Amino acid sequence: MNELYKIKKNLLINEINYINNKNKNNIICINIGCDNKVSIIKYPLDPGGISSLKIECLVCSESRKKNINLPNIIFHKKTYCENKDGIFGFLCPMDNTRYSEFSSEIYHLKYLDNDHSNNSLENIKTFCLICNTCYYM
Ligand SMILES: [Zn+2]
Ligand SMILES: [Zn+2]
Repeated sequence: MNELYKIKKNLLINEINYINNKNKNNIICINIGCDNKVSIIKYPLDPGGISSLKIECLVCSESRKKNINLPNIIFHKKTYCENKDGIFGFLCPMDNTRYSEFSSEIYHLKYLDNDHSNNSLENIKTFCLICNTCYYM
């Protein structure tokens, strides 16, 4: 299966699930080449609800956090802030030549539309903690 096909397939699956009544049990991991379903965290206030959906599957998120590369999987999370060019309407205040000096904990994956069932590549971007916080102010 080639890469582009996989991207399209995952996008299509997520798009169909999004349209079809937001079927939260069938959202596919954002990472290119991965067909696993996303992991679901049980929050006491919203058990099994839509806000409990993660962006990646458990295998990907655990591997990525441990810096382990998975064969044929391209992680979607960047090691820089995607607001570096000001797509939020303000410029990222971090020095963009120094993004790589910071741990991945500084960077968060964010749903642009805040809809946790919309796991499409365009809807999920990486932002630094500052931009992520400023976005809500
Ligand atoms: Zn995955
Ligand atoms: Zn930023």
